[in-house]
Amino acid sequence: NPVTREQRDEAIAHFKYEGTLVKDCPYGSGHINDTFLLIFEIAEMGRIKVILQRMNSAAFPKPVEVMENITGVTSFLKKKIIENGGDPERETLNVIPAVDGKPYYIDSTGDYWRSYKFITDASTYDLVEKPEQFYESAVAFGNFQSLLSDYPAETLHETIEKFHDTRNRFALFKKAVEEDVMGRAASVEKEIRFVLEREEIANCFAEMLDRHELPLRVTHNDTKLNNVMLDDKTGKGICVIDLDTVMPGLAMNDFGDSIRFGASTALEDETDLTKVSCSMELFELYTKGFLKGCDGKLTSKEIELMPMGAKTMTFECGMRFLTDYLQGDKYFRIHREGHNLDRCRTQFKLVEDMEQKWYTMNEIVKKYSNN
Ligand code: ATP
Ligand code: MG
Ligand code: MG
Repeated sequence: NPVTREQRDEAIAHFKYEGTLVKDCPYGSGHINDTFLLIFEIAEMGRIKVILQRMNSAAFPKPVEVMENITGVTSFLKKKIIENGGDPERETLNVIPAVDGKPYYIDSTGDYWRSYKFITDASTYDLVEKPEQFYESAVAFGNFQSLLSDYPAETLHETIEKFHDTRNRFALFKKAVEEDVMGRAASVEKEIRFVLEREEIANCFAEMLDRHELPLRVTHNDTKLNNVMLDDKTGKGICVIDLDTVMPGLAMNDFGDSIRFGASTALEDETDLTKVSCSMELFELYTKGFLKGCDGKLTSKEIELMPMGAKTMTFECGMRFLTDYLQGDKYFRIHREGHNLDRCRTQFKLVEDMEQKWYTMNEIVKKYSNN
């Protein structure tokens, strides 16, 4: 349901803003929340921009927990950035509280709203225009890991339960095959076999977590290019935004998901699989940037497992597409018949490609692991 004028006015009236509102319009190209840009005119100070968002209640059924995670992480980041002599207004999101002091406002229809200071002189990009941008996003997400390496990740809410519990996703997949509610299993025998033959990918990180071999980290979980603000002058990644999916997780999974979509040579739903591969040039670029950003804060085990993170995230994603196909396309929106199956096939093609390039991927990680 679209945001109404009355709803927006009600929300605007309930945040701690100064000055006179002179502009108010939809903003950006986000797909999850409804984002607005507001401009206030303040006497003798000039114009101040802010971001106002209606949170997506379908995607995030626990908005209070989401906002607790965001305020926890951003106030921690702010302190760190000040300590490091950075600019806390530009290098992290800053939550503008509601009039009652809460980090959100619940309007009379029950929708949740939140507001952020606008990050000035920086932009987001929906598509990679040049490889440097992909590199800069890697540095920014690595830096996010570095700044939050001493944050108590276990205190964050798991706002999407078992989000990257790949072992659990494997179990759900097997159940979907057994139930076969759409009668589609027989037609995708090959893809099902692909998953079943690779159960060890699904178990790898879970078993290491069981053995307490991996540190729990603050993960972003939506590490795409347009969730990083790049400075307009220098092109550097200055701030990671869109913190809705911040949760306790594994550093390799944030890295891995970026590789899954960022280093692929084709779209996620490409039907010509000969076009689909994992580019080693892009893998190297992202690895270099991410490790630079991490600044020595990852353990050697985490670094060593970065290729595994890429393979795991790609395998998990393909398995989820296949699960959804078997269950009648209930989760991922489809735009054509068999869309989820096409998506599943690109992911499995990428997994196969990574299996073939495994030695190279590990050599690349080694090359950048000491600096
Ligand atoms: P997604 O589809 O990536 O999940 P979303 O709907 O969750 O997006 P955001 O990524 O939070 O929305 O915001 C949408 C866009 O608004 C961003 O890509 C960015 O261009 C802009 N934006 C968000 N927050 C700020 C900010 N604090 N300062 C400047 N621009 C911002
Ligand atoms: Mg976004
Ligand atoms: Mg988002």
